[in-house]
Amino acid sequence: MADPRLVYERLYARFGPQHWWPADSPFEVIAGALLMAQTAWRNAEAAIANLKRAGLFDPHGLAKAPIQTIRRLVKPAGLYRSKPRRLKAFCEHLVRVADGDLTRFFARPFETVRAELLSLPGVGPETADSILLYAGNFPTFVVDAYTIRIGRRLGLFDEERYGAVKAYFESHVLRDLALFREYHALFVAHGKEICRPRPRCEACPVRDLCAYYTSLVRRRSVRHAQR
Ligand code: SF4
Repeated sequence: MADPRLVYERLYARFGPQHWWPADSPFEVIAGALLMAQTAWRNAEAAIANLKRAGLFDPHGLAKAPIQTIRRLVKPAGLYRSKPRRLKAFCEHLVRVADGDLTRFFARPFETVRAELLSLPGVGPETADSILLYAGNFPTFVVDAYTIRIGRRLGLFDEERYGAVKAYFESHVLRDLALFREYHALFVAHGKEICRPRPRCEACPVRDLCAYYTSLVRRRSVRHAQR
């Protein structure tokens, strides 16, 4: 079975540091995470730029702003109904529990903050963990569709459940904030460029560790021998 630490080293050597997250502040990281679902980062960025230009890009401003105003400004991010509501609900919550102060919000125990995030509209485990990892500085592993696809092909696990995949990495890789941030970003890079739905295995830096590739090579050699 592949060693997830070695997988990390190979991906890092191939793709280099990913410089996530492309944002100026923890609040921008959170807004980006809430606005990014089913769209590219540049669209979320355009929505954030509109909010900044309107002088509304802060928790108190967004908590008070009418939903119609937020809708108009975040339109480039798509999902016209749900995303503005998501952003406003997060800001209202932040103002309620920490007077809009993210340092205070994240100074509480990890489980408390995660449970609160998960109780908010439109915040699932992936978004909650992204916020906790990239804005809250908590070493929590973020799982997405790339993580599951790559991990299963490599033979690291035979799982699709979010919690089980997260637990796998958290128990097999050193629990380190910088490493968890980089590992997630590297999986995204690898899943976009090489380990796609139709994988480009010949270009893959971890193919010698990969169960999928091993069985592909075996099948090819059986076919060759049968000719
Ligand atoms: S060898 Fe192929 S299937 Fe395995 S991780 Fe690389 S690209 Fe994905």
